[in-house]
Amino acid sequence: MSLSERISHIKPSATLAINAKAQELRKQGVDVISFGVGEPDFDTPRHIRDAAIQAMEEGFTRYTAVGGIDELKDAVCDKFRKDNNLDYDRSEVMVSCGGKHVLYNLAQAILNPGDEVIIPAPYWVSYPPIAILAGADPVVVQTDEANDFKLSASALEGAITSRTKLLVLNSPSNPTGSVYTLEELERLADVMLKHDIYVVSDDIYEKLIFDGGMFANIAQAAPGMKKKTFVLNGVSKSYAMTGWRIGYVAGPSEVIAGMTKIQSQSTSNPNSIAQKAAVAALCGPQDEIATMLTAFDERRKYLVERLNGINNVSCNTPGGAFYTFPNFSHYFKASFEGKQIANSAGLAEFLLTEAKVALVPGIAFGADSFIRFSYATSMALIKEGVDRIENALGRLVF
Ligand code: PMP
Ligand code: GLU
Repeated sequence: MSLSERISHIKPSATLAINAKAQELRKQGVDVISFGVGEPDFDTPRHIRDAAIQAMEEGFTRYTAVGGIDELKDAVCDKFRKDNNLDYDRSEVMVSCGGKHVLYNLAQAILNPGDEVIIPAPYWVSYPPIAILAGADPVVVQTDEANDFKLSASALEGAITSRTKLLVLNSPSNPTGSVYTLEELERLADVMLKHDIYVVSDDIYEKLIFDGGMFANIAQAAPGMKKKTFVLNGVSKSYAMTGWRIGYVAGPSEVIAGMTKIQSQSTSNPNSIAQKAAVAALCGPQDEIATMLTAFDERRKYLVERLNGINNVSCNTPGGAFYTFPNFSHYFKASFEGKQIANSAGLAEFLLTEAKVALVPGIAFGADSFIRFSYATSMALIKEGVDRIENALGRLVF
């Protein structure tokens, strides 16, 4: 049977594909160390699981309002007020089945064929396909390792055309861990306000910022920006809830209504039990975030130091999230058993086969010189994983 034309323009999610591959190898008895998928290796906090159990016991197991229950919408509004100094009412927020689903709904609600979506690279793997599935054209803007992979105001200005509809910003960033300062966002906001463009601010790693750094998003950066911004967030990363599938968004109410219409004709409401759990996550004690952050920080420091200790590898120190994005391009010139490594996919393949270490090649994030490490894994495995990588690199021939 022939598939839709749409589907021929996209690839499966590389991060999820690497995860599946690592799990498959483990099932076959191969001892794989995974720096692959980006999900916290902690359990969902006890009080959140208890809220879900209570919801089930109380029979909260039916369809809910399509865009989320009022209790959760109110919790989301409170969170934006408290953490981000942004005021929204219920009509300006909605809940979807994860942050990824928020993006999908948004793209379907505002993009038309021929519209352009500016995506700074390195980007999270799902941004371009989600734009393409809505018929729009991703416009990838490269950033520099030396500038900590951040989009400059002049690069943004240079990428805008009469077809530009949306900019995607992600801070802290997956895959680089870079964090934009308020001043940097103000400079981007100046450009945005000259043009009739929307921005989606993907704040999913908001709570994971190191060294006491301050989180800011572009909706806060200039008075006129809030009505042009969709603020995306969710419980997956902050509360170790990747499997629960709850994400949320705030933005102009007419678009939220459009996104809710799409959701009503696709998934209906997000899982009722997970919505109650998300209320507990947002309104309950927040101390487990600090515990996770301390563990991530220790791993970050160790991993960055180890990576910079490998010959001809450079690795910026990420300010947030749980990824490092070192430059491994020196090794693309090398060969193994007569075959040149050639690119990030070749190196990731070599390291999976020869070192039994799963990593995501930079090409999946639009930056082929790099390899992504997710350090949401134990210190012992990080140490063993880097030892294995160093060992395998030593077997390459230049
Ligand atoms: N944005 C970024 C940058 C991400 O890395 C992820 C990864 N899961 C998401 C959004 C979506 O997360 P989820 O769908 O689990 O809420
Ligand atoms: N966002 C995580 C990652 O980049 C989870 C997988 C995915 O949804 O892409 O690894």
